[in-house]
Amino acid sequence: MDLGKLIQERIRDIPDYPKQGVMFKDITPLLADHVAFAGVVDAVVNHYGRGTIDKIVGIEARGFILAAPVAYHFGAGFVPVRKKGKLPSATDAETYDLEYGSETIEIHLDAFEPGDRVLIVDDVLATGGTARATAELVRRGGGEVVGLSVLLELSFLHGRDKLGNLDVHSLVTV
Ligand code: IMP
Repeated sequence: MDLGKLIQERIRDIPDYPKQGVMFKDITPLLADHVAFAGVVDAVVNHYGRGTIDKIVGIEARGFILAAPVAYHFGAGFVPVRKKGKLPSATDAETYDLEYGSETIEIHLDAFEPGDRVLIVDDVLATGGTARATAELVRRGGGEVVGLSVLLELSFLHGRDKLGNLDVHSLVTV
């Protein structure tokens, strides 16, 4: 079966979650389907090629679920980016605007060796604020951002426009 079609079938729309007026894309049915989940991980690894990446950065929380098996299959390390206050050692932080209010994310200061080739993995690219802030943290930490890989890109929110010339790989775009 066509992977893009399978992904779309396994992502469900949840209206008014987490708040009124938001149509939330829920990836839990996809994660529960071993064929779809494995297909997604393999597609990301095949797109970039094993051995081309040193570290995979996963964004809390759903990004972790995808990034960890991708790291394993790449033969790369895994680095978490977490919401403020969750990482135990010394961190660098980046704050960005949300539709209402702001968010701060952090990364460990010693996450990278100089020149590490880094792929950022997340579930959904929406407005792009989270991805842009993550890329900034990686660059400040000494990593070279090879790209951003997402399961689903919500193109009507124009997240790519915030990401400059960063290579964005999305398995499905709506
Ligand atoms: P952005 O910063 O607006 O691009 O939002 C992307 C971040 O919010 C990602 O870390 C996603 O996990 C999360 N996100 C935004 N919209 C959705 C959605 O509809 N489903 C799942 N996650 C979402």
